[in-house]
Amino acid sequence: MAKVYLDYAATTPLAKEVAKAMAPYLKQGFGNASSLHQWGRKAREAVETSRQQLSEFLNCSLTEVFFTGSATEADNLAIFGVIRATLRQAQGKLQNFKPHIIISSIEHPAVLEPVKHLEKAGEIEATYLPVGKEGIVKVADLEKAIKPPIRKPSVSNGAGNTVLVSIMYANNEIGTIQPIAEIGKIIHQSPIANHQSPVIFHCDAVQAANYLDCDVQKLGCDLLTLSAHKIYGPKGVGVLYVKKGTPVEPIIFGGHQENGLRPGTENVAGIVGFGAAAAAISNLKSQIANIAKLRDKLSNGILKNIPGTALNGSRENRLPNNANISFQGVEGESILMALDQKGIAVSTGSACASGSLEPSHVLMALHNSPIKAHGSIRFTLGRYTTASEIDYVLKVLPEVIEKLRKISPIK
Ligand code: PLP
Repeated sequence: MAKVYLDYAATTPLAKEVAKAMAPYLKQGFGNASSLHQWGRKAREAVETSRQQLSEFLNCSLTEVFFTGSATEADNLAIFGVIRATLRQAQGKLQNFKPHIIISSIEHPAVLEPVKHLEKAGEIEATYLPVGKEGIVKVADLEKAIKPPIRKPSVSNGAGNTVLVSIMYANNEIGTIQPIAEIGKIIHQSPIANHQSPVIFHCDAVQAANYLDCDVQKLGCDLLTLSAHKIYGPKGVGVLYVKKGTPVEPIIFGGHQENGLRPGTENVAGIVGFGAAAAAISNLKSQIANIAKLRDKLSNGILKNIPGTALNGSRENRLPNNANISFQGVEGESILMALDQKGIAVSTGSACASGSLEPSHVLMALHNSPIKAHGSIRFTLGRYTTASEIDYVLKVLPEVIEKLRKISPIK
């Protein structure tokens, strides 16, 4: 049976060159990067080479790259770390100070959940920016949402100025791209943001890294998250870029690694793989047009040949590998299972959200009905997708949908 993997946004296969770079550190190069002997020194050297590769990818300095155990952890570190640092700075100066955070309503749960957790605990105030039908944040809404700093301790009274804005670069479900450089400019040029305490700008660039420029100087980010396994690297390694001088406190304790910001013995092989994967991204650039062409062939083919289908998100402002399509009158999970039986891997919502019966918060934010949100499938292509794989999907999908519609209780 054919095997067609169209779930590159969930994870990517390990690239050959990445596996090759990692192999020595899974075998004889097993040292602990903190050990002083030659095994340790070799591991340390490898970690620092990777840091160099990531700093080149992000156009930042070596001391601004922090390795973590995942992008989820990096996102959590950005949010909890900034809030802890801010609260510590306000201690004794402002009474009942409550920092204000702004995020988009379609953030990944790795950003959304920490913010909701802090909000529920009464530690912060949060604003969730709406997105239009296309899934894109309006810069004017962000400008309006930024709260000025509190100048007099006596008036703080539980209110607080905006300390953190977190907006993702590209969405993991619908692939829509946010105007990050424009947002970066607004945040740092805003008279409100510049007064007294600057607003910190975090960007989750996990899904964007393969396709969009992640130069942090151009983007104007203070914090930025990446994940190795979305760029043909290994699972279980993330990076948080922290611009020099940005107040972030650690959220785990027990070691000196990563300058004390992320203690724990380094995952040397994983970190080596991350560096190799980041260094190889430039090779993917020549493939982007082909990936976009295959994606267009897939989405146009579905929209043209299967009635009751609609593309979710923006047609233009989206990642070249993403097609998220709603199929009227069918459950997304049924489609996923039926396609799996034909050897085709796709996803409903995000991989992390699948398994839950809640409709996707991203699709609901586009003002979709729960039925439309439930009947959606995310197809994500990648480096190894071929035209014959897309032909195969276009051949089997109409029949799958027709069969499911016949037995579906929803219309
Ligand atoms: N942020 C986004 C936008 C993602 O798509 C994902 C994974 O799907 C994550 C964060 C979490 O990444 P990780 O699997 O490295 O924890």
